[in-house]
Amino acid sequence: MENRSVLELLKSTLGENKVLCSLENLYVYGFDATPVYRGKPMAVIRAYSTEDVMKVLTIANDYAIPVVPRGHGTSLTGAVIPVEGGLILDLSPMKRIEVDVENGIVVAEAGATIGEVNAECRKYGFFFPPDPASAEVATVGGALATDAGGMRGARYGTMRNWVLAMKVVVPGGRVLRLGAPVYKWRCGLNLLHLFVGSEGTLGVITEATLKMLPLPEKIVRLLALFETVDEAVTAICSIRRRALNPLILELLDESTIKSVNEVFNLNMPEVGAAVIADVDGPKEAVERLGKEMAEVFEECGAISVRIASDEGEMEKLYAARRGAYPAVSRLYPIVLIEDIVVPLSKLAEAIRRIKELSSKYGVAIVVFGHAGDGNIHPCICMSSRDEESMRLAEKVFYEICRIAIELGGTVSGEHGIGLQKVHALVEELKYRESSWLLEVMREVKKVFDPKGIMNPGKFFMRCRKCWEV
Ligand SMILES: Cc1cc2nc3c(=O)[nH]c(=O)nc-3n(C[C@H](O)[C@H](O)[C@H](O)COP(=O)(O)OP(=O)(O)OC[C@H]3O[C@@H](n4cnc5c(N)ncnc54)[C@H](O)[C@@H]3O)c2cc1C
Repeated sequence: MENRSVLELLKSTLGENKVLCSLENLYVYGFDATPVYRGKPMAVIRAYSTEDVMKVLTIANDYAIPVVPRGHGTSLTGAVIPVEGGLILDLSPMKRIEVDVENGIVVAEAGATIGEVNAECRKYGFFFPPDPASAEVATVGGALATDAGGMRGARYGTMRNWVLAMKVVVPGGRVLRLGAPVYKWRCGLNLLHLFVGSEGTLGVITEATLKMLPLPEKIVRLLALFETVDEAVTAICSIRRRALNPLILELLDESTIKSVNEVFNLNMPEVGAAVIADVDGPKEAVERLGKEMAEVFEECGAISVRIASDEGEMEKLYAARRGAYPAVSRLYPIVLIEDIVVPLSKLAEAIRRIKELSSKYGVAIVVFGHAGDGNIHPCICMSSRDEESMRLAEKVFYEICRIAIELGGTVSGEHGIGLQKVHALVEELKYRESSWLLEVMREVKKVFDPKGIMNPGKFFMRCRKCWEV
């Protein structure tokens, strides 16, 4: 059937208002939060219910039309780019959230944002632990599909650790109900977690049952300033060794501090590195833990340690870290953000080697990230969008991935593979003598998506160049 006829069928099945075909819409939905990728869908479908999704995946499967599920398009890897055209399936209208205090769970539709889930939980004295810096816009579906982490990852890990059940629609329109709304579940193979981090390549998540936690009685936020990144990393490792178990443990290097100051006027002291740490718990304990943590920072050579005294100051520190990527990407036309993880014991070496690359190639590399769990986001910053700069950025990007792999780490801790890290994934698997796992993944995909319509051209593809300058 011709594309035009498929669109007519979609309109008559779903209703005209849910099928967007204007040039403006097709253009806008061709991007994500990366500066280098773009595609053009044939149409955008706005889904309002699981039934809508079932109808779309029935028609798309019948006529082998590509489908790219989309939350709010904040992907940092090109994961949501419609490289092979087809349909963008926008889940953002699905926003229902229900908190079930008695059972300690929150049920959210795919289009609700992590921030909205948290706001709802807070009304009842609870919170949802994963906390990507993009929480106000990242959707539950997108966060599950990328297995997003965030600042509280140092303690609570990624989305995977907080999902109990999901409703997923697969090509052909069948609904899978994976997991169960209980804290323990041991029935057969764990297909629930197969879909977490699958980046829209297996099916469409329409609803999730998530665990929540009681809000801590008190949080104390510390800002420790260091002359060098090395000292800051030593301090982070000491905090871990002393089993202080912080809620967040974030690193900002000097160029990050300068960037957030310039863009957001934050007035942070422009020293070699800053560490932002949170401790939480009962009032009496938290103050003692905060002091202990401050002592560790001082022993490790901090120039100054400040314990934030009020909500305003605490929020300003959080804003500095949350604003790191937006600040850097406002200052440079091209920023390639990495998402590497290394064992904590190798973090100082990783950053040292990254800074050496910066000098070797004369390229600005800004480093910040969730250092408490070894996950950092070096950003390769280019002042020009020309082909030569792109090639250099790409070269440096893969050299940083290689550093992570050689140090026993991985190329992605939370952003996923998307378009950006296909080669890096292949490299990592090769290094681990596990290249055949890619074949296993392709076979698994065929079980749910035999025609290959779900988010095609992403990490199952055989490598090809996908930059667009
Ligand atoms: C400023 C900024 C800060 C960020 N900070 C963090 C951070 O701290 N931690 C972190 O982990 N990430 C971070 N990110 C990356 C990004 O926000 C996350 O990956 C987020 O979870 C994506 O959510 P989204 O709704 O925008 O998904 P999208 O970008 O729309 O989609 C991402 C992927 O998920 C798939 N997908 C979306 N919805 C569904 C669904 N319902 N069913 C199946 N597949 C689906 C898409 O096909 C795509 O592959 C940041 C991004 C920005 C711009």
